[in-house]
Amino acid sequence: MKNKTGIIVVDLQEDFTELKNGALAVPNTGQEYVEKVRKATEEYNRKGLLVYATQDWHPKNHCSFAVNHPGTNVFETIELAGRKQTLWPVHCVMHTPGAEILLPAYLFARVIQKGTDPEFDSYSGFADDGGASTGLENSLRADGIENLIIYGLATDYCVKATVMDAIKAGFNVKLRIDLCRGVARDTTEASIHEMIERGAEIIEG
Ligand SMILES: [Zn+2]
Repeated sequence: MKNKTGIIVVDLQEDFTELKNGALAVPNTGQEYVEKVRKATEEYNRKGLLVYATQDWHPKNHCSFAVNHPGTNVFETIELAGRKQTLWPVHCVMHTPGAEILLPAYLFARVIQKGTDPEFDSYSGFADDGGASTGLENSLRADGIENLIIYGLATDYCVKATVMDAIKAGFNVKLRIDLCRGVARDTTEASIHEMIERGAEIIEG
């Protein structure tokens, strides 16, 4: 098939959803949302499209956790080794239930873990803030993927960063907006504008 399309499901993990009161739950991510994402992803899988998942996967001493920077508060942005780092509640600690992906494993051709280095955050599924590749781009190239449909959590952080890096890497990107949820309304709207400006096409199921 020419112009092969792949799917990237970004961070559909327990800690980012309201389903089980995740540590960093994004608004409007209860059962209805998770079911909708599951059904759509099953449909793509049934059609024979390769589906990739990104998974936030942090060590306990990760730099994005406010608790690891005494005197700071969650959601504060600090300067860290010359970079801006927003501080979050402890979330998606590797091998804990909060880090689990809420969709069945059989749906995925590959799961890409990110944020595994304690010193660097990684909103993007492609590379962390230190520039280290996650291997996602190589996988997509090896599978002959040229077009991507991207959705998941959260629109204004990891979805946006993943979309931007995908476009930068030369993929044609569609953002499946009905399967995305954002942390805050203003940053979500701004991020959608930025993604469109950069060349993403907005689609709905
Ligand atoms: Zn994280």
